[in-house]
Amino acid sequence: MSKRDYYDVLGVAKGASAEEIKKAYRKLAIKYHPDKNPDDKSAEDKFKEAAEAYEVLSSPEKKQRYDQFGHAGVGGAAGGGYGGGGGMNMEDIFSQFGDIFGGGGSPFDSFFGGGQSRGGGGRRVAKGTNLRIKVKLTLDEIAKGAEKKIKVNKQISCKACDGTGAKDKSSVSTCKTCGGSGSVRRVTNTILGQMQTTATCPTCHGSGQQITAKCNVCHGDGTVRGEETISINIPAGVSEGMQLSMAGKGNAAPNGGIPGDLIILIEEVPHETLKREGNNIVYDLHISIPDAALGASVEVPTIDGKAKIKIEPGTQSGKLLRLKGKGIPEVNSYHRGDQIIHVNIWTPKALNSEERALLEKLKESANFKPQPGKNDKSFFDRMKEYFE
Ligand SMILES: [Zn+2]
Ligand SMILES: [Zn+2]
Repeated sequence: MSKRDYYDVLGVAKGASAEEIKKAYRKLAIKYHPDKNPDDKSAEDKFKEAAEAYEVLSSPEKKQRYDQFGHAGVGGAAGGGYGGGGGMNMEDIFSQFGDIFGGGGSPFDSFFGGGQSRGGGGRRVAKGTNLRIKVKLTLDEIAKGAEKKIKVNKQISCKACDGTGAKDKSSVSTCKTCGGSGSVRRVTNTILGQMQTTATCPTCHGSGQQITAKCNVCHGDGTVRGEETISINIPAGVSEGMQLSMAGKGNAAPNGGIPGDLIILIEEVPHETLKREGNNIVYDLHISIPDAALGASVEVPTIDGKAKIKIEPGTQSGKLLRLKGKGIPEVNSYHRGDQIIHVNIWTPKALNSEERALLEKLKESANFKPQPGKNDKSFFDRMKEYFE
């Protein structure tokens, strides 16, 4: 198969300027791009043919050889870099695009879906640093989940330059060192022969762009110090020390890169009377000696408000009562812990003479003498019951 003339392929005259050649190729590359022509073999062939023609005609040295010797002048060993005249592979073609389309905003980014991932060593996008904040939550907020609006001080994108760091549109240009690709190829001589490596461009640090005049507001950084009110949805069931992260809510990146993440560290504000134990809540209830002996109905606080519980006649001190499902939900689950009520019998600390006389009388009564039996659980059994 004989090759078509490279000038014919690109549709330019022999004396065409470098800019005309570039423009012609850009047109063809867009027209025959595989993303635009899926499963079209002839489009793919034309795409490759155009890339090969451009590869030669865009290099002054190869162009000269081609002009002098035709295809023979740039094929085989003389082809250099891409290993002969057997056409280019897709990776080489895509890596060439930085030269043709320059930095962002080309019609290409939309075909690529913003992808610089294709064709190795492409432009690198800077990432902002992560931001860490502490969020204090009450037990109530932990039990129900909370939406917190928090004002954070952070690096935000500069509005004056839209985060580019440039004074205006005309002061952004394609990096001269890497031609906008964000990477440079280096050829090193080793004992195994020539090795070609790709490295991040030292001039633009991978962005592919250079700024000739800096923004007056951010002095070229693309970010400024500012405040943002962030709405944070905290799921129910989080606990002290847990970290949540919100992608993209951290510090803005210099020169329009990807913002960092917001890391939220959870802190629990202790509740006055309810104590958290994992997903359970423990409440210490104190009842009087008569209530313990006679039985009573008492109110206890829960995270859902007050609840009435029944104290059976003859309740012993240290008894554990369970309010099922009145604890803390597990994160991202329907399961909820319980509220455990620890019953304490209140012993009066001071007595008047009348009370003293009554108790002296009761002391002699047989029922007031401790008689622990089979049905009175030991402390150990109660603890076991609690942990189950
Ligand atoms: Zn560069
Ligand atoms: Zn700015």
